[in-house]
Amino acid sequence: MVQVRFACGHSRSVTFPVRLCPLQRNRTLSLLARSTCPSCLRELRQRVAQQQCRAVGLPPLRGNTPQVVGLAEQIRAAVVRAYMEQEASPTSEVLALLATRRDAGWWCVRRMALWSELHCRALVSELQTESEEKP
Ligand SMILES: [Zn+2]
Repeated sequence: MVQVRFACGHSRSVTFPVRLCPLQRNRTLSLLARSTCPSCLRELRQRVAQQQCRAVGLPPLRGNTPQVVGLAEQIRAAVVRAYMEQEASPTSEVLALLATRRDAGWWCVRRMALWSELHCRALVSELQTESEEKP
């Protein structure tokens, strides 16, 4: 196990495969030393997702931990991006549906939306069905 210091200043223990040659091992260590640590990378992704959702007027999500809220914001931002890539901006109808769900746990259960635009569309369809079923 080797202690790696990332470019962001954080350190982390890294384990290499026993058979990894010294050259490859040094290249990997050098690459990691020039990279951002996984925690800082996650925070950055979450901050960008929050900014994208605020930019289209979506309210902040609510959840038990910052990690859950952060993941949920990323999922919701993926849906917004999927619509932006197709239509320049999501319709007000889609945004109104996305704004109905502020519980971070609800979004995290549907994290498949991060995988593809198809999953994003399925999630919006689910919201449409829910809103039609409400009295
Ligand atoms: Zn870091």
